Amino acid sequence: MLEIDFTFHLSTRIHFGLGRLKKAGKIAKIYGRKAFLVTGKSSAKKLGFLQTLKEALEGEGVEYTTFDKVEPNPSIQTVEAASRLFKERSCDHIIALGGGSPLDAAKIMGLLVSSPPPLSQYFGKDKIEKSIPPLVAIPTTAGTGSEVTPYAVITEIKNSEHTKRVIASPYLCPEEAILDPELTLPLPVSLTSDTGVDALSHAIESYISKKASFLSEAIALEAVKLIGQYLPVAVKSPQDIEARSHMMYASLLAGVAITQTGATLLHGMGYRLTSDFGIPHGKANGVLLPAFWEINFPGCPEKFSRLIPYLEENAPLSSRQDPERSAHMIKNFLHRAGLTEEPKLNINEDTILEFAREAAENKRRMANNPRNLSLEEITTIYKKSLGR
Ligand code: NDP
Ligand code: MN
Repeated sequence: MLEIDFTFHLSTRIHFGLGRLKKAGKIAKIYGRKAFLVTGKSSAKKLGFLQTLKEALEGEGVEYTTFDKVEPNPSIQTVEAASRLFKERSCDHIIALGGGSPLDAAKIMGLLVSSPPPLSQYFGKDKIEKSIPPLVAIPTTAGTGSEVTPYAVITEIKNSEHTKRVIASPYLCPEEAILDPELTLPLPVSLTSDTGVDALSHAIESYISKKASFLSEAIALEAVKLIGQYLPVAVKSPQDIEARSHMMYASLLAGVAITQTGATLLHGMGYRLTSDFGIPHGKANGVLLPAFWEINFPGCPEKFSRLIPYLEENAPLSSRQDPERSAHMIKNFLHRAGLTEEPKLNINEDTILEFAREAAENKRRMANNPRNLSLEEITTIYKKSLGR
């Protein structure tokens, strides 16, 4: 018998439900009267969410300063500008409204406000020694799980080269997460698909991670099940609030699961496709997922085959247990989830090898991975996925 033995900690208070955005004022005022709002450049404004948030704050007597310049895959320059404004206005807490980009930018801005520069000293795991100002996270995509995770991803730009850097620390966990599925109704098909596939990869990676525990596995499994059922519906019928609600819930579950286990090599491999070729984060994971699945399958075959019926209802047992055939089923599911085109990248052998080397050197992610992959195997995943 497997021994049940785990530690599980979640520091974020979660508020979930339709119309919850309107209640944000009551939650924010616990943390002070001077909020600093961090959001993206246009969607929150255009869709009226920012206005709803502002009214909710005004209703509770909370003043605010707005920073609405966060770009997708935010840069260090952007968060530096935000932190200067935060200090100038002497704000006392942060409210982030948007996709993973504004949420992560808010976390890192908070870090810059509370800890000395340079930011680079905090890259990696557990390098932060002080709390950031209280953070209320309000996601408008159903994908990253950033509203509960201790992770933030930031892009470092040096000599026009973009590098994604991850900072992991319990100090980056938001105090409060407000999840209002209504906010995801306007997501266009491509964003629904890309962000939903991000959540799926969190759930799968957490489930197969060497760090998985009884509890994290149960949570990840439920996330895979819900994504299997509802992501194709949300892609087909964007106004289906039941599908949207379940996707936001599943993305939260997947986020909770990775707080305990971290991601695997798949996330590490996807980052370069985003920074060098502009492929959206979730899609980058999805593009690599089938080949990644096939090569890792022998590391924990029971786990991989257990996931299949959630994503392909009528899968015969023989194909569930076969690395290649089950990987093909994952590909079919991704297709139904809106990932219909393979990216045609102008990428050469040397670049693929450089990406593969970088991934192979990522000891932390490799330690989470079901198998210890060789450089050749990682190269194969890239090549197969990119049609080379
Ligand atoms: P982004 O936050 O980058 O947003 C992508 C686009 O979606 C933007 O143009 C944004 O507009 C738009 N958008 C956001 N919400 C809506 C909406 N409700 N309706 C219509 N359009 C909308 O996308 P993601 O959520 O995928 O976040 C990706 C980032 O998160 C990456 O940097 C990734 O590395 C990171 N990440 C972080 C994790 C973590 O644990 N911290 C885990 C996984 C990924 P606008 O710009 O106007 O706001
Ligand atoms: Mn992700």
